Amino acid sequence: MKHSLLTCFLLMTAVTLQIAAAQDTINQSSQVNFSPYAEWESADSAIARQNAYSAYLQSLCPPDTVYIVLITPVGLYFWLRVDPMVDKYLNASPYAYCNGNPLKYIDPDGREITITGEDGRTITYVPGKQYDGNDSFTKEMWSQLDEISSTQSGGIVINELVNDDGKAFNITSQIAKGPNGLNVRCYTNGKRLFKMGGEFIGSEYFAHELFHAYQDLHGYGGASCANDVESYIFQGLVSSELQKIPFEISIPPQLMPNYTAGGTQYESAYIGLGEGRHDTNLLNALAIGFKQHSYAASMGITEKYTIFSKNQQYRILLFWRP
Ligand SMILES: [Zn+2]
Repeated sequence: MKHSLLTCFLLMTAVTLQIAAAQDTINQSSQVNFSPYAEWESADSAIARQNAYSAYLQSLCPPDTVYIVLITPVGLYFWLRVDPMVDKYLNASPYAYCNGNPLKYIDPDGREITITGEDGRTITYVPGKQYDGNDSFTKEMWSQLDEISSTQSGGIVINELVNDDGKAFNITSQIAKGPNGLNVRCYTNGKRLFKMGGEFIGSEYFAHELFHAYQDLHGYGGASCANDVESYIFQGLVSSELQKIPFEISIPPQLMPNYTAGGTQYESAYIGLGEGRHDTNLLNALAIGFKQHSYAASMGITEKYTIFSKNQQYRILLFWRP
């Protein structure tokens, strides 16, 4: 018992030294690099977090156990490393943390979602933090991202987008032109650019565009009926979670079928997929039905879409929601 107590004490000393070293790093980096848009975690909150963790470590050291000895110093160091980016990713969604190794959420090389406001400033979206600037576009996009992050479906997607190895995704107040010359929100495939200007319509529509980015991330972005219906399913899932309504009554208007026999079949394919009955045939039926029987089809919007694009090796929805 004495041995374990001593080991415990030594470990706690090592831990305390590491905390002190980490605090120094934080303080220095806050002083050197501070800018109101780049650095979100204050030194105070980092220290408070470390103190709380230190208390937790002490609670792991009852005198009659050797449990603490089993935690390797490497493991302790891993948990105590302070990186200002850690908190923001842990807050991405209540589900995000369970997705994998917490190391994944430490961000050394700029994997981000950024927002460029109407004021021309580009800032990094930090899930769970408040935007305290004045730009109305940034404010709106920020709160829509927060809403989407708060859902299980949306949290998974946003978390992957911010942890991507490649370039940042940027949201701009530019306006894109849709098929009828209307202002639309869109995601530009391959450029990682959301053009979200124009009317600030609801976060469900933003969710739709986010899912196109997610498809792009997995290597099969581009315009096709299959990609669009998958985005609509995602949109419907986010919408049903946000509004606390069943999935089937969150059907976006573009998907509303003309009530022919084909349309009815197509609607049930949508509901089946959204409820998690993953079946490639259902997705095929939905993509074909979208081209032929949707509201979008009746407006002539789906005419130029192929059912699947060439690079669609697998169905992202199956991958995303096994
Ligand atoms: Zn779309």
